[in-house]
Amino acid sequence: MTFRVANLTKLTSFVFTTMTLTPLHALVTPSVTPGFARFPEPTASININSNSDAYKKVWKTAINDWNRTETFKFQLTNSMEADVIAGTSSSYGNNYSGMTYSKFTSLGSIQHVDAYINPKAFKIYSYSTKEKVIVAQHELGHALGLSHNQARKSVMYKANRNVIIQDVDIKGVHVLYSSHGNRVIGPRSQKFYDPIVVKTDVHKTPAVKR
Ligand SMILES: [Zn+2]
Repeated sequence: MTFRVANLTKLTSFVFTTMTLTPLHALVTPSVTPGFARFPEPTASININSNSDAYKKVWKTAINDWNRTETFKFQLTNSMEADVIAGTSSSYGNNYSGMTYSKFTSLGSIQHVDAYINPKAFKIYSYSTKEKVIVAQHELGHALGLSHNQARKSVMYKANRNVIIQDVDIKGVHVLYSSHGNRVIGPRSQKFYDPIVVKTDVHKTPAVKR
């Protein structure tokens, strides 16, 4: 009996230690990035609404990166009637790197999307051009209908600063647009606010507790 209790204690201690040392995101196996809604077809027109050549380039790079996956096609237009308006805004606070607001049709597909990246937050937290492009890739992922992936190795991980479009994300778009059943029932809009990631946290390793 004593032996059993001792073993049980050891086991509990082991599980506890493992849980303590492993951050939650590392426990989640990267799986196919889920979707929340879709356009009728895997394509959308997009207007980059920015006066800054640098930020136009950030959006354009992210658009090309998604188009290169050949799962979804963003088509650039100058029309304000575009399906997606991609811009810059700091009005939702310095704690957010990006924001996407999607509206749905009465049939439950995506009708219109406003996607923003936040120049002020980028400046405060010293985002590199590549990191800005990654935030733009993430917001475009929302724009085409992807939700967050709980695993860190996805461009759709919520607090993402340094992970580009992954296979799990490409598969997610493929699954989303292969199915005809993806219609939003109920809500008529969806907002995603994506937090900034402080540079020192990017490669942070968990502290060893004794
Ligand atoms: Zn997000």
